[in-house]
Amino acid sequence: MTPDDAYQWLTEHSLETAYLKSMGRVLGWDQRTHIPAKGHPHRHNQFALLAKWIHVRATDPRMGEGLARVEASDLVLDPMAVAAVNVREWRRDYDRAVKIPQDLAVALAKATAEGETAWERTRPSSDWETFKPFLATVVALKREEAQALGYAAEPYDALLDDFEPGETAAALAPLLGELRVSLLRVLAAVQGSARQPQGEVVRRHFPVDAQNRFARLAAQSIGYDFAGGRLDLTAHPFSTDIGPGDVRITTRFDEHYFCPAFFGVLHETGHALYDQGLPVAHWGTPRGDTVSLGIHESQSRLWENLVGRSLGFWRFFYKRAQEVFPVLQDVPLNTFHFAVNEVKPSLIRTEADEVTYNLHILLRFELERALMNGDLEVKDLPGAFNDKMRAYLGLTPPGPGQGVMQDIHWSAGLFGYFPTYTLGNLYAAQFYATAEAELGPLEEGFAGGDFAPMLTWLRDKIHSQGHRLWARPLVREVTGEELTPRYLVRYLQRKFGALYDFPADGLYSVCHKFLPVAGS
Ligand code: ZN
Repeated sequence: MTPDDAYQWLTEHSLETAYLKSMGRVLGWDQRTHIPAKGHPHRHNQFALLAKWIHVRATDPRMGEGLARVEASDLVLDPMAVAAVNVREWRRDYDRAVKIPQDLAVALAKATAEGETAWERTRPSSDWETFKPFLATVVALKREEAQALGYAAEPYDALLDDFEPGETAAALAPLLGELRVSLLRVLAAVQGSARQPQGEVVRRHFPVDAQNRFARLAAQSIGYDFAGGRLDLTAHPFSTDIGPGDVRITTRFDEHYFCPAFFGVLHETGHALYDQGLPVAHWGTPRGDTVSLGIHESQSRLWENLVGRSLGFWRFFYKRAQEVFPVLQDVPLNTFHFAVNEVKPSLIRTEADEVTYNLHILLRFELERALMNGDLEVKDLPGAFNDKMRAYLGLTPPGPGQGVMQDIHWSAGLFGYFPTYTLGNLYAAQFYATAEAELGPLEEGFAGGDFAPMLTWLRDKIHSQGHRLWARPLVREVTGEELTPRYLVRYLQRKFGALYDFPADGLYSVCHKFLPVAGS
């Protein structure tokens, strides 16, 4: 086989696998939106078969042979050539897949499926004692997986690398440590302020039909293509990229609270805009794929928070909101804008505001890193979780259900996933600052309903680039700088300084100091 033939074979192999995965996403979307209650067991069997096929393809020895052939050829001389990018990612996936012994893969699949089910059953009653052995099994297997995958510095890196290629705990810890100090200062300033929002105005009666219409209007206005997507109802909102021309979003409405559905739709729209902007010509190969969970999250956070919670955005949308929701007619724009930006420490991560959200992530990062490195055992997890909640947010969970058991991630074996949320926030702030430096003040455009410059910039710099670069090199290329928490901190200080009336610029200088996070 010539290198060209080998590359051709690898491309077709990759495409066929991508079609199988895409079919899985249709099944997954259906399962979370429309499936009848009795259909779940059959659906699980369909997933199991797909997973088996995909695993067989991922570890096909012909991949190893084909890759070796292409890697020794001129096809990969230029590391940014399409073939080189594809081969780099195929190699990475193949090496990871073949390092996991079959019996470990099976044990992990079983333990995480049982872990999720146990979590669903025990969380409502806060039953940690029943849940604990399931989690302990998952943790033991994930430690084994980390050993099988291998790592340079610490076991946690092997798992983090799955979600954020190339990222390491040691590289992340100083960023998060610096962020923590700044966030705690912003939080203290917010809590010490005499000016507080009227949260009541977003907790009035917002009929579901009206919310649905208004959310669709916003999604469409910022660039979501409804001819290539749709919005449906679900219990746990998500977006899913089924393939070119079919990127779907979902939401859940609360009649008595405006924020979750509206900002949830903006968030999922941000994810979907990324997928809708991927280079179609490369679909099914890494060059046409997304970079990482963190970069994906940067797109959702950018539209949800930096755009969607900005005053400029509401200068354009608020009159329309008042038409759609008569309960807002007596509420001035600034009062509404302050209310959708309320900062208040809370127990539940998914309900947290822009300032406290990253503290929720930080404490999970510290705990899961310690768990995977063997510095913390599952039996000590609830106490450690509560200690950090008190230290970072000043709150004590009333029970494990609202504390250590609140997220599904660990029961499902998703260790190394949480940091991608905060990375998403960091990338988003740095991208936005660069876009603004290049395009001029963006909010003025938003106030006139002009979101195209922002989207066009993202399409050009990020979406169309596919998986050409990993996250940190992409940040360097797009922003001309290494990843830094400075932009997120500055954004939060300025925004919340203006809302809560505290001097924004004094805060950063005193805390711009290297401070590692606990345990590093
Ligand atoms: Zn997201």
